[in-house]
Amino acid sequence: MPPKINKEECTGCGTCAEECPVEAIVIDEDEGCAVVDEDECIDYGACEEACPVQAIEIR
Ligand code: SF4
Repeated sequence: MPPKINKEECTGCGTCAEECPVEAIVIDEDEGCAVVDEDECIDYGACEEACPVQAIEIR
């Protein structure tokens, strides 16, 4: 399953996007939070581990 971003928790720091090997995460500057391209995501899981505020959940 692609990661779920908790928009309330996400600070838009960009760490998850930096860790993603297929560049499936971008930071929406208007909303100030991460957005996942579910078509690109390969369920690698690095984003969930990298997020400093645990705003990403992969089930
Ligand atoms: S690492 Fe976490 S807080 Fe930072 S942009 Fe990604 S989801 Fe948001």
